Amino acid sequence: MYIDSHAHFDMVLEEGSITEDEMIKNMRASGVSHAVQMATDVESSAWSYAFAQSHADDGILFTVGIHPSSNAGSGELRSLHDFLEEVMAGGDAALVFGIGECGLDYYRMRQDAQMQASSFRFQIECANRFGLPVIVHSRDAMDDTLRIVREMRPAIGIMHCFPGDREAARKALDLGFYLSFAGNLTYKNAAPLHESARYAPLDRLLLETDAPFLAPAPLRGKRNRPEYVLHTYRHMAELRSEPLEKILDAVYGNFMEIRKHALKKV
Ligand SMILES: [Zn+2]
Repeated sequence: MYIDSHAHFDMVLEEGSITEDEMIKNMRASGVSHAVQMATDVESSAWSYAFAQSHADDGILFTVGIHPSSNAGSGELRSLHDFLEEVMAGGDAALVFGIGECGLDYYRMRQDAQMQASSFRFQIECANRFGLPVIVHSRDAMDDTLRIVREMRPAIGIMHCFPGDREAARKALDLGFYLSFAGNLTYKNAAPLHESARYAPLDRLLLETDAPFLAPAPLRGKRNRPEYVLHTYRHMAELRSEPLEKILDAVYGNFMEIRKHALKKV
């Protein structure tokens, strides 16, 4: 079974080209057993929770978090914390996959670096307090991202849409992180990513779509959907010269291992 460890169903739906039921049906028909609906701010954390509750039987999990491009003043951080507390005390806490996506984005720079850093630290603290994995977004900011991670020591972390070369992969792996590769792994010009993907040990690999972004080849340029993750799996198998089954088993096992960690506190 395939797993999409990072998708934005809300953003796919906003485009209006597919219904919620169709999206879930396509995903299931393509053999995707689990997908994680990723929050990007307080409002989408609440949406993600409701979405996961109504699709719990379809393998949907969700996160609570604030993206580095979203506003994260003290009011937002407090609301996020209160919401998380409420979810963790409720009956559906097992649907929480982790905290995020949080991190640093110096490419878009929609919030200043200081706000991004304090939001990132705050969310790692939340993850540590509730024993949850942290899902990290890092764009053009790998050194600062790794520095904060090194200081804050999240118990379990995932570097989403892993953007780095082999050296960055080594550093993230040294900090105990899982590396989640997205559709850009399939792009011909992504040589540093190909190297990282070959370098990463099987027991630290995850794959994702980051739908609606970064559709994998041969669908590059289209809007991405969770079921397209299978192209990235195939590409990963080719890159590593390993059978697809081996990648499927490894990613499934890694995902369940992360789940086990998150469920300890539930
Ligand atoms: Zn994302």
